[in-house]
Amino acid sequence: MSDPHAGGPVPGGDWDRAVGLVASAGEVALACHISPDADALGSMLAVGLALRARGVRVVASFGERRFRVPRLLRFLPGQDLLVEPGDYPPAPELMITFDVPIADRLGTLVANAGKARELIVLDHHASNTGFGTLNLVDPGAAATAVLAEELIGRLGLPVDKDIATCLYAGLVTDTGSFRHASTTPAAHLMAARLLAAGLDPERIARELWDRSPFGYLRLLGMVLERARLEPGTGPAGLVWTFVTRADRAACGLPYDEVEGMIDVIRRTDDADVAVILKEDDDGAWQVSTRSKGAVDVARVCAALGGGGHTRAAGFTSHLTVEQTMAGLRALL
Ligand code: AMP
Ligand code: MN
Ligand code: MN
Repeated sequence: MSDPHAGGPVPGGDWDRAVGLVASAGEVALACHISPDADALGSMLAVGLALRARGVRVVASFGERRFRVPRLLRFLPGQDLLVEPGDYPPAPELMITFDVPIADRLGTLVANAGKARELIVLDHHASNTGFGTLNLVDPGAAATAVLAEELIGRLGLPVDKDIATCLYAGLVTDTGSFRHASTTPAAHLMAARLLAAGLDPERIARELWDRSPFGYLRLLGMVLERARLEPGTGPAGLVWTFVTRADRAACGLPYDEVEGMIDVIRRTDDADVAVILKEDDDGAWQVSTRSKGAVDVARVCAALGGGGHTRAAGFTSHLTVEQTMAGLRALL
């Protein structure tokens, strides 16, 4: 059912329909995007914990063949809600997706979503394709966690410390620690509500950003060493680098340890666009792009089969590093 979102907040009638669907469901199946970040997993676990506390049967997952929660997200409460995608209901009566802009990002669970009787899509990507039977999409929301909090509130469910921890992890991550333009009064008011529920902001920050094995320092050194600045590329320059499977193996690091490296690369004042190509365990390149505003990287990445936000987007490439960069340069 295609219903591209026109923009703006979610109409009250759509929230009422969502509340009705959840209230009448015997079991609710939750899913977030593959390679989950704190917003995807945190929003999903928050709603899962709230529903379970009310006695609703809940399962939650993401559709990866090598199902594994990234190390830095293992501190999130509610992981016992997770099931392997192979154990997920094949045709859920009610399925809810979190932070998923296009059905493809459900990975293997795209098949389950296709057979779901009702499919609620909770998301904040402007590029959301409206692949649900009910699409609660607000591109103005700082994070999917904002919509998850609203759903929990409209269901009349309390937000305890664990639920607040999950929501806060999504909010603080997607606002770039309250640095991005999405840092509105509403974002800070939400943070205040969550803090009042008793979460530990220092611990969450340390888990998300301030810990790594020693090998991370070596790997970061290698990745920074090979960074290239191309001042003439695009309207305001490009800085880029890459990290291979072999690099990670040499430093004893799993894939998720490289997720945050783009935040170091994008510091570069001399470039509007920052790019890092990260080789995953299957040999595909997961490409992260960031812009300071001169370039809409969501459009660039969409043209290359990916998506995201205007200032933070990504795509997957099965070409070589040079071929992938040539494709990107052409679009910039
Ligand atoms: P990342 O660079 O992985 O932090 O992702 C930044 C943004 O781009 C997020 O909003 C992602 O949802 C989106 N994104 C990253 N990789 C892909 C991909 N392969 N396909 C579609 N969207 C992606
Ligand atoms: Mn996400
Ligand atoms: Mn998000």
